Amino acid sequence: MAELEGLEFGKSDFVLLDEVNMEQFMENLQLRFEKGRIYTFIGEVVVSVNPYKQMDIYGKVAIEAYRGRELYENPPHLYAVADAAYKAMKRRAKDTCIVISGESGAGKTEASKYIMQYIAAITNPNQREEVESVKNVLLKSNCVLEAFGNAKTNRNDNSSRFGKYMDINFNFNGDPTGGHINNYLLEKSRVVQQHAGERNFHSFYQLLRGGTDDMLSNLHLQRNPEAYVYSKEGASVITVGPFPPSIPPLKMFCIERTLGNLEFECDGEIVQLPGAGSVSHVAELTGTEPETVSKALLYRTVATGGGEVIEKGHNKLEACFGRDAFAKALYERLFAWIVGRINTVIEVKNYNPALHGKNTVIGVLDIYGFEIFDNNSFEQFCINYCNEKLQQLFIELILQQEQEEYHREGITWQHIEYFNNQIIVDLVEQLHKGIISILDEACLTVGKVTDTVCLETMNTKLGQHPHFTSRKHCPTDKTMDFQRHFRIRHYAGDVTYSIEGFLDKNKDPLFQDFKRLMYNSADPVLKEMWPDGQLSITEVTKRPLTAATLFKNSIIALVENLACKEPYYVRCIKPNDVKSPVLFDDARCRHQVAYLGLLENVRVRRAGFAYRQPYARFLQRYKMTCEYTWPNHLMDTDREAVEAIVTQHGFEGDVAYGHTKLFVRTPRSLFTLEQERAAL
Ligand code: ATP
Ligand code: MG
Repeated sequence: MAELEGLEFGKSDFVLLDEVNMEQFMENLQLRFEKGRIYTFIGEVVVSVNPYKQMDIYGKVAIEAYRGRELYENPPHLYAVADAAYKAMKRRAKDTCIVISGESGAGKTEASKYIMQYIAAITNPNQREEVESVKNVLLKSNCVLEAFGNAKTNRNDNSSRFGKYMDINFNFNGDPTGGHINNYLLEKSRVVQQHAGERNFHSFYQLLRGGTDDMLSNLHLQRNPEAYVYSKEGASVITVGPFPPSIPPLKMFCIERTLGNLEFECDGEIVQLPGAGSVSHVAELTGTEPETVSKALLYRTVATGGGEVIEKGHNKLEACFGRDAFAKALYERLFAWIVGRINTVIEVKNYNPALHGKNTVIGVLDIYGFEIFDNNSFEQFCINYCNEKLQQLFIELILQQEQEEYHREGITWQHIEYFNNQIIVDLVEQLHKGIISILDEACLTVGKVTDTVCLETMNTKLGQHPHFTSRKHCPTDKTMDFQRHFRIRHYAGDVTYSIEGFLDKNKDPLFQDFKRLMYNSADPVLKEMWPDGQLSITEVTKRPLTAATLFKNSIIALVENLACKEPYYVRCIKPNDVKSPVLFDDARCRHQVAYLGLLENVRVRRAGFAYRQPYARFLQRYKMTCEYTWPNHLMDTDREAVEAIVTQHGFEGDVAYGHTKLFVRTPRSLFTLEQERAAL
């Protein structure tokens, strides 16, 4: 609360603004940032501004201050939300989740780490060994995942290039018993290509810098990253941690580096590999024979209409495409394998609900924020769709449900206008009509459907949609080339996507020859990663699901999972694009505040009630603070008893009585009650 910090630091909860408008919101946000107060509440939501410098607000002392306290007893902090989620889980046996959102570089991953550290610090007071080891693995898994899944981008030196959802399981004591990680859409195109100034995944540089000479020579690697086509970029040095120890399939991970250096040569129609050296390294590292490696790189086995199987030589373009697809798939499967291994280690073991009580969960979601680049492609399309889904969940959980509950409880309530983005979600995901369906249809069509043809179909089918811009809407718009671009009016702003490469990325083809090559590897781990390599070409009849559909299915499952948990939100804001600890770029922040829907959030929160509780439960907790309810319940109904308590403490003006629940507008009233209860 503001008074806990002093008014010179601004309002610690945006709900306390004199008036809810953008100007006041921004003024308060900037003042707090400049005073080093990077966190501000909107009720239970924490708004966080990346400080771009180490803050002295974490660690043991701070953790103790927040431990077991109510949200409104301390200044805003990630620890306060972490504690609220933990308390809900422990006291009320509720599954909870903490959704961390914001754009690239806004501080999501750092926030998720502080939250995990907080939870680790407040649990297992008796230092039981098996719980300590679970906590240890949960915390350390971060470092491995960051090595393989993070990279330097132009926006963030340590950008997560995958989405992460982590469940932590707790026993009835509130101690962690295990966990589970889901990863979403690793940006595997980075393996073979990076934008200027960006780098490949950290792991490679860490290995080259940190590996011993012996290790590197066994893996046929050179120490200099610039020796590799796949990582020539990013000469700029940034500090990254050491390569995580004990990653067994080190070999697999080196293969794609070597692959990148395989150059194909053309002799007339025939494509050849110039040097046998690299091929034999690939063969050695993959547990295969050089001849089979060359064959998979140069030929493709195809089944003819008559059931005949023939080998078709690649042209140079196909050979390069095949090689890159193979490298990307290797890395992607390696990453999935690592996540799988971590899960095997941390999964809850020997849990007996009859003996140990309900197994409750806190989920932490750290997933890529909304992206608008100069050139937006399939990846941005998927990421932005994911953000539409999360925004929809936020609307449903926070805004819609709130309004519906007031209605249900018969409480007078002024309707708040907010933009419901369901219409954009439908535009992308609706069966048969949405963009993903149109892409999939184009990918399934036999023959050559080009990106441009697919775009034409979109323009025809979606031309009337209010959130899809086509030629019909703005025939004179010079910023769009209707042969190459389409634009979606996202809730967060307009994004123009370039259709080029969409179909290939959606189909994500990998020749069966590579899968078979890996399945036949003498290395059991590699074989395990490629079960689909068992099939011979004549057996491969079913088309695999497209990348967009796989992603859509995983995000729908994620949202369903989050929707049945009690949600807590951290909304991260990036103060500037130059990583400065002092610069508050008003326009950039304003934009983020707008698309995160923070003003609507404050309005609903203010119009509404911070706390609500069924009469019986409220009475149970506070009956001892009032002479009409303690030691004997002298009223006819629970509701009357609650009215007596409220009146006795003089905050009638701060509550409303619903059909089944008491609604309290500001947390302060409850605070008074809590203090009195504690003093008894
Ligand atoms: P991406 O979507 O690209 O993964 P992100 O939102 O996860 O971005 P982070 O990696 O968490 O962003 O933060 C970017 C950088 O900002 C960090 O590497 C760190 O330098 C700085 N930073 C973020 N939060 C804090 C904090 N609380 N204290 C100090 N520095 C921070
Ligand atoms: Mg991140």
